Amino acid sequence: MDDRKFRNAMGKFATGVTVITTELEGEVHGMTANAFMSVSLDPKLVVVSIGQKAQMLEKIKASRIFAVNILAANQQELSQIFAGQVKEKKEVDFDRLEGQPVIKGAVAQITCEVVNEHVEGDHTLFIGKVTNIYLEDHDPLLFFNGQYRSLLQQEKLVQP
Ligand code: FAD
Ligand code: NAD
Repeated sequence: MDDRKFRNAMGKFATGVTVITTELEGEVHGMTANAFMSVSLDPKLVVVSIGQKAQMLEKIKASRIFAVNILAANQQELSQIFAGQVKEKKEVDFDRLEGQPVIKGAVAQITCEVVNEHVEGDHTLFIGKVTNIYLEDHDPLLFFNGQYRSLLQQEKLVQP
């Protein structure tokens, strides 16, 4: 099957946007990701899916920690920075939660320890046990059909 058809189909699944952060030997690395899912309530587990060509892969394999930062509607530029879509190098200031680097102003900062990893095709799924969570009350940044959106642009569904 054609890659474009697959991506077009997957792009129909509207998601939020996260930046995954980790730290190795004092260096913070971030990567934009929308392949994120809640897995289990007891214990509290999440999963992120990292492509085999991403620098982030070796970093998480070595650090065994990552944080999921769910971006706010006003953080599209950060998504583009951490997806490598901004040419010039930008300085990003990180906050700390549980000693881990996290993105300031995110809707949610979720710190995790890697408890399992599964190589599936050209991605690795990292299962993270949640160690701490910090929430802020902002609207989220959305991604649909390969484009950024916000809740403000969407019509509200009528409640039954
Ligand atoms: P690089 O490409 O080297 O780094 C990413 C960018 O972040 C670079 O520009 C770098 O300068 C910057 N950066 C990193 N750390 C810092 C720092 N400390 N301070 C300032 N800047 C920094 N890929 C996946 O594997 N899984 C996904 O779920 C996924 N979802 C995506 C969703 C969206 C909406 C988009 C746009 C992209 C997604 N990608 C996903 C693709 C992924 O974000 C890019 O391929 C990314 O460039 C891979 O990052 P990397 O780890 O290879 O690092
Ligand atoms: P797009 O049309 O490439 O992506 C639409 C959807 O297809 C994504 O939301 C994702 O679900 C899926 N997808 C895209 N690339 C994939 C990949 N390499 N592996 C698995 N699933 C993938 O949207 P876009 O705006 O062109 O994306 C920007 C860039 O970010 C592209 O280079 C894309 O490959 C990458 N991206 C990668 C992933 C991922 O690796 N899981 C997810 C989203 C975007």
